[in-house]
Amino acid sequence: MRSNSAVRYFTPKTFDLIMKILPTLFVVALASRSVAAQYSPLVPVDSAPVTIHAGMLIDGHGRTQRDVLVTVRRGRIERVEENVGARGRGATYELGPATLLPGLIDAHVHPGWYINRQGALHTPRDGDTPAQAALSRAGNLYATLMAGFTTVQSVGGPEDLDLRDAVNRWQIPGPRILTSSTPINDAKLSPDSLRGLVRALKAQGADLIKLFASAGLGAGGAQTLSDEQIGAICGEAKAQGLRTVVHAISAASVRASALAGCTEIEHGIFVTDAELKLMADHGTFFDPQICLVFQNYIDNRDVYTRSGFTDQSFKGLADALPTASAMFKRALATPGLKLIFGTDAVALAHGHNADELFCRVRAGQKPMDAITSATSATAVALGLADHLGAIAPGMDADIIAVRGDPSTDIFALRKVMFVMRGGNVFK
Ligand SMILES: [Zn+2]
Repeated sequence: MRSNSAVRYFTPKTFDLIMKILPTLFVVALASRSVAAQYSPLVPVDSAPVTIHAGMLIDGHGRTQRDVLVTVRRGRIERVEENVGARGRGATYELGPATLLPGLIDAHVHPGWYINRQGALHTPRDGDTPAQAALSRAGNLYATLMAGFTTVQSVGGPEDLDLRDAVNRWQIPGPRILTSSTPINDAKLSPDSLRGLVRALKAQGADLIKLFASAGLGAGGAQTLSDEQIGAICGEAKAQGLRTVVHAISAASVRASALAGCTEIEHGIFVTDAELKLMADHGTFFDPQICLVFQNYIDNRDVYTRSGFTDQSFKGLADALPTASAMFKRALATPGLKLIFGTDAVALAHGHNADELFCRVRAGQKPMDAITSATSATAVALGLADHLGAIAPGMDADIIAVRGDPSTDIFALRKVMFVMRGGNVFK
């Protein structure tokens, strides 16, 4: 007779006992979680409903409402009313002529990247203590949240797991984090080993899998993993219920990733119209970066020169700016392409995430479409659309307010005056 592994390790009597106390253990675990939250500094004292009154609301799906009153209870949006007139008086938060929007979502950040005490990019051997590294990273998250980004996807490093959990336990202020933990970037591994790696990352707590299908921009972006290796990673991730986010610079690497059924493709600076159409046909989410990541290195030339960048690197970055904008224009013109929003924010770009939206609008995207991409469209790509990315009854209360109307002037997103995440006000 074959026995399952649990029975092999325990006598039938012990196994029986474990099954009996399992529900109790589960309840104890849940209780200790809420105890942890109860003693965290950022959790509000009571859960009385709060109301927010503002002149305008953008719902995340391209619609606007005027003179709105939003009621929030226990972290959720309970009601959204428009043209409320005198009933708007006495709201908990009176925001005057401001515009409410869903908390913004960035599908590609690196909160682990920060500038160390020597004024260069942090590396594991620069002498920073774990506490110094953790505090710097917490600072990155705080800057991101204050800029109106209430959800980010980090792609990523193992340090993200602790950052994510600290935010979830309300120990530090920050956007909620989905993370890939360590990305997969080893072309020497067999397809079977790569599948094993996907399962190991899942066991470690990764929310998604990040893989490098190509070299970086400086190295020309040629495909590095074989079609078979990409297929093994994206196939196994799908079987394990995880999404895949692929770094792909060249047209060939984008093509291979779309054909392998990977969920989301990053960068894609050298794609032709054929790959754009291929992604549209396969329902692949496309997250092109067209300026912040390049401009941030260029604007902080001293820091990144100390971090090993050369004149050649900076020239490559400057050249990438017009190439990426031209590619984005073609992406906008591709019917059915699922364009989402991610910045690739690295050290010194945290908190400037909206700059990428300004570039997208400059390249020809309508401001309202840019806002939709950074809210509901990216929520869909991240598998969060049932509770995030829109202001509507039943959704999580991730609400920000800006001075002005970003649907006519996208730069209004620079003037974030109010940030609520999960019903808690941080700004
Ligand atoms: Zn990146």
